[in-house]
Amino acid sequence: MFGTMTKPEKKTARRRIEIGGVVQGVGFRPFVYACANRFAVTGFVGNESKGVFIEIEGAPETLDEFTAFLKENVPPLAHISSIDARAVAPVGDADFRIIESESHAADFTLVSPDISICADCLGELFDPEDRRHLYPFINCTNCGPRFTITKTVPYDRPNTTMADFAMCPACRTEYENPLDRRFHAQPIACWDCGVRAWFESENFIEDDPRRAVAAAREALKDGRIAAVKGIGGFHLSCDARNRNAVETLRQRKGRIDKPFALMCRDLETARRFVLVDAAEEKILTSKERPIVLLKKKTDHALSGSIAPNNEYLGVMLPYSPLHFLLFDDALDVLVMTSANFTDEPIVRDNDEAREKLAVLADAFLFHDREIFVQCDDSVVRINDDAELPVRRSRGFAPFPVELPFAVPQVLAVGGELKATFCVTRENFAFMSQHIGDMENLETLRAFEKASEQMKRLFRVAPERVVGDLHPNYLSSIWAKKNFPNFTAVQHHHAHIAAVMAENKLPDEKVLGFAFDGTGFGTDGKIWGGEVLAADYRDFARVAQLRYFPLAGGDVAVKKIYRVALALLAEAGVEWTPELPCVAACPETERRILRKQLENNLNTVATSSFGRLFDAVAAISGVRQQATYEAQAAIEFEAVLDENVKAAYEFELIEGETVLIDHRPLVRQIVEDVRRGVEKAVVSAKFHNAAAHLIRALSRRFRARLDLDKIALSGGCFQNTALLKRAVKLLKADGFEVFTHRLVPPNDGGLALGQAMIAAVRSMQN
Ligand code: ZN
Ligand code: ZN
Ligand code: FE
Repeated sequence: MFGTMTKPEKKTARRRIEIGGVVQGVGFRPFVYACANRFAVTGFVGNESKGVFIEIEGAPETLDEFTAFLKENVPPLAHISSIDARAVAPVGDADFRIIESESHAADFTLVSPDISICADCLGELFDPEDRRHLYPFINCTNCGPRFTITKTVPYDRPNTTMADFAMCPACRTEYENPLDRRFHAQPIACWDCGVRAWFESENFIEDDPRRAVAAAREALKDGRIAAVKGIGGFHLSCDARNRNAVETLRQRKGRIDKPFALMCRDLETARRFVLVDAAEEKILTSKERPIVLLKKKTDHALSGSIAPNNEYLGVMLPYSPLHFLLFDDALDVLVMTSANFTDEPIVRDNDEAREKLAVLADAFLFHDREIFVQCDDSVVRINDDAELPVRRSRGFAPFPVELPFAVPQVLAVGGELKATFCVTRENFAFMSQHIGDMENLETLRAFEKASEQMKRLFRVAPERVVGDLHPNYLSSIWAKKNFPNFTAVQHHHAHIAAVMAENKLPDEKVLGFAFDGTGFGTDGKIWGGEVLAADYRDFARVAQLRYFPLAGGDVAVKKIYRVALALLAEAGVEWTPELPCVAACPETERRILRKQLENNLNTVATSSFGRLFDAVAAISGVRQQATYEAQAAIEFEAVLDENVKAAYEFELIEGETVLIDHRPLVRQIVEDVRRGVEKAVVSAKFHNAAAHLIRALSRRFRARLDLDKIALSGGCFQNTALLKRAVKLLKADGFEVFTHRLVPPNDGGLALGQAMIAAVRSMQN
């Protein structure tokens, strides 16, 4: 060779980008592929256990543009939690490719929740030209089932309940085309290859999949009750405009007053029955599609028995394509209630449905895609434009709650009612879907299966297992039996730790108000009106509602007038029959109750704020017996007159623990009731009193303990009348107030707090 070759000065750089978050099963790789085409860079993209990795090669400026574009245009279901980029040596790829998955045993990635049908799929569903026209299981990488069909990771078709379905050539082409919306959409299916629906009733079977949903629709129009298999389980459904059908469903389910949820054809239909503001519209139409508790219109045309004595209706919009197909112009609103027997988990399996739901349903709309784990609908309400979860389940689980700091791996088994569990890894808490009330073996079995799945999905091997202190909670008994490293934490401490964790508070002291129905105390009594100076590790009970006796324990939870009578006795108020709660108690029962209270026979002491709510509702005449949890409190809140600013007064008695004395308050209420003051006024004065109490105690302990962060948790704070009032007063006083937005204030959020307490304790030991 002679001389020197002068190379053109074309600078090439290469970059490796690793992305963590919800980036698998959400169309992320095709999106990256499309970006690479757009910027004409070479390299590859692939899935690995902990997320997605990309290598790109090109001019340095182009790589910057590519990265910026990527960050700003992520696919709708993706959620980036971390992004790392570093320079690597150029290798001179010829093109850009999607490469095979890499799996590292120790890594983990986030799994997408089940997501409602996207606009593109919805368009195709009703497009007569589309090959999936009216196909009830249409989906793409931007929508459809995920969590409930995933058995293990990586999220690939063989690891889902779609494994049994062979793709037809048309679906396979879409599945393999990186530029198609269905590239690697694991639940991909169509009329020719996929999941199929069929209809069964006593004397008629429609097994033509193209006519099955229509058959169900006709049955519903006829006033029948249909069990409809959806995404996370079966619903029991009937025409909500058909009074008889609603009544029949209520009778068969043995559900006296507990509200039924509604599914409305669309937003316009929903607006006929309920008021929907901007924040409510947003969550109602979100991809999570929860049931939203919305204020009833006074002139709505639905049967009163959908949600008796309730100001609110639980409303959701259709979220699976199958749901959309159930409606037409003559059927625009359906009751959609979880198909189960009281306390048991939602039914998810076809055989189980046939066996268990036969007495409840006249007809069945089945399909043959297995639901691997059940997942009930989520329930939220909006408070001050923010979400207040009542049940965090479908659409949210297993998306994690981000923690303030990284923690060891822990399994928290939750409480008893509204049970959920939680596993932690790094700075994530994976909260489970709603499991049900852990009072029977069915629920325990569902719990076991779901917790195994969760540990598998996120590759968690818990070093510690934590649960509630209550000796009789099934979850704690189960955990104690199965895990030698089980620790128990106090119920109300867990509530406060939960609200601290979701607000990402560091490990510092707050003043926590834990007001709920029931929780086992460290003194063996039933707590529920607790003020705790707490951090994650520990707590001091600085104030409590004065103990009062519950006669007959759990009986009192249903026969609320008994709690009212006990509180009257405590306050020295005579049981005179003009008081509604006295009149509600038969004379013989009254005599026995009197003896029980006088001699402390079969009574337990409680400081429960929830029971106080019940009692006051009974004294005011709103409700004497409850048929579902928190019914009295819900109805008491519903009658409240917003214009009343006056308040009853608790007294605070100083001591090592400040006692919140309810006796003067009860006497004031009785005086009002005897004077014929309206329930609406009594309710307002009581809610005001509770909020003033929270402020008074906060002021007292701000001075004494130097705490100005206030945390509110426990089932009572699902009551937005109480929550709003308390937050407003506290903020006016300059307190920093922390409330729930991600997990429920009720026991559905307990596992998060348990996990944090156990994790922090193990870090400090
Ligand atoms: Zn879609
Ligand atoms: Zn197909
Ligand atoms: Fe609780």
